[in-house]
Amino acid sequence: MDRRDALRRIAEIVGPEGIVPPTEAERYLVDERRLYRGSAALIVRPSTVDECSRILAICNRARLGVVPQGGNTGYCGGATPFDAERHVLVVMTRMNRIREIDPVGFTLTAEAGVVLADAQAEAAKHGLLFPLSMASEGSCRIGGNVATNAGGLAVLRYGTMRDLVLGLEVVLPSGDVLSELKGLRKDNTGYHLASVFVGSEGTLGLVTAAVLKLFPRPRSTETAWLAVSSPATAIALLGRARDESGDRVVSAEYVSRASLELVLRHIEGARDPLDRAHEHYLLLELASSDAPAALREKLERIVERAAEAGEIVDGVLAESGAQRDALWRLRETIPEAERREGGAVKHDVSVRISDVPRFLALAGAELDRIAPHRRSVYGHIGDGNLHYNLLPPQEDPFAEFRDRWGAKLSCAVHDAAARLGGSFSAEHGVGVLKIAELERYRSPQALAAMAALKRALDPNGIMNPGKVIPPAAFASRSA
Ligand SMILES: Cc1cc2nc3c(=O)[nH]c(=O)nc-3n(C[C@H](O)[C@H](O)[C@H](O)COP(=O)(O)OP(=O)(O)OC[C@H]3O[C@@H](n4cnc5c(N)ncnc54)[C@H](O)[C@@H]3O)c2cc1C
Repeated sequence: MDRRDALRRIAEIVGPEGIVPPTEAERYLVDERRLYRGSAALIVRPSTVDECSRILAICNRARLGVVPQGGNTGYCGGATPFDAERHVLVVMTRMNRIREIDPVGFTLTAEAGVVLADAQAEAAKHGLLFPLSMASEGSCRIGGNVATNAGGLAVLRYGTMRDLVLGLEVVLPSGDVLSELKGLRKDNTGYHLASVFVGSEGTLGLVTAAVLKLFPRPRSTETAWLAVSSPATAIALLGRARDESGDRVVSAEYVSRASLELVLRHIEGARDPLDRAHEHYLLLELASSDAPAALREKLERIVERAAEAGEIVDGVLAESGAQRDALWRLRETIPEAERREGGAVKHDVSVRISDVPRFLALAGAELDRIAPHRRSVYGHIGDGNLHYNLLPPQEDPFAEFRDRWGAKLSCAVHDAAARLGGSFSAEHGVGVLKIAELERYRSPQALAAMAALKRALDPNGIMNPGKVIPPAAFASRSA
């Protein structure tokens, strides 16, 4: 089948409603961080699994590349197509049905295009919790969360998306539908195939639905904004909080003064919760099915003891839902504030939690050597993941800083993580942005195994060409 014929048949399959006209293409072709402006032969929005299956079968025969896209909030350009002749962008937003909720089995079955916040809301309607949570939850989609193995703000307690997926429905490059939506908690009948697709960033198949784990909804939540003397103290405090609360900590988010200042400068209504400025903060949240007063008592006791031990120098506990939201807003709007400030050289590293202070010392010393004037902004911490983002001094233009220092700074940050056995991409994936890092930091054995898997499932290389797998590792008939 030739290219034109294939594209015409795909257009017929989705019908006029499923085709994105060129006038509306921009939002799908430019990535979240505006690092890439892509192009595609066709942008389609299928509405059924059958349509997806027929589209992939045609692309496979005609050797057209298929680029899956959910909410297009990914940070590594993974959802951007790069070929105006041979790439078909498949946007999953019309496949947005919740197929089933099982309050006894604590599962929810959602199509790939369900917005994360809608999945959370559906669970909440039944008094349950779907715990994946991140600042992009109003736009990112379940299929994208699966494909990136999203992390977010509650990994400490509930794990990443991989821990929350019980099964998947995936359209394979051949067009065959692999349906593993049984929702079983135990099933050792050979390979756990769903796991292969979690974190595969659209390079192995098109995820069309997922069975997700739900949890009892906590009856009480307590949130504190604490000024701590150093990141190392934040980690000590986290250990104390986990221990003394009976492991009721859900989130532990580090916020540096530089981050807070960005938010105060750019985000309307944001205000410093404390009277005096401090260099380091920890946003700590506990949740449980304890009665609210009991959890509050636990948090107060933790804070009291930590203050006695010199771990906390100042702090405030949220007194209402509105105050809790205001504290979280200070953390969740950091990416937006960075963007309004002009941009940041972003990193998404992880090390063992106990190694975070060593990592900061190692990377900090190296960065001091390269660009002592930078500002460092970082988030997360409780799960060993640091968004270690670097900005120029306030008065300097970002583009100049990025062009002059960016590559060196990134290399120093990634090398420091690697020296401690850490990862250069904790939760944002590889996409097109970090392929060189993948080649540099993953072992030849790991790269060979990844390429073998890719070849086995997608021999014609139609799925998300040019993403994740380094071209040298997957030489041959790619689309
Ligand atoms: C403000 C902000 C905060 C964020 N915070 C976090 C955070 O805390 N933690 C975190 O992990 N990420 C975070 N992200 C990144 C992003 O939101 C996540 O990676 C999210 O999981 C991407 O979902 P999406 O639907 O937007 O996917 P997209 O950006 O559309 O796609 C991402 C990748 O998944 C593939 N893909 C998408 N849908 C499918 C499908 N159905 N089948 C197969 N492959 C598919 C794409 O091809 C691409 O490779 C944040 C982003 C923003 C803008």
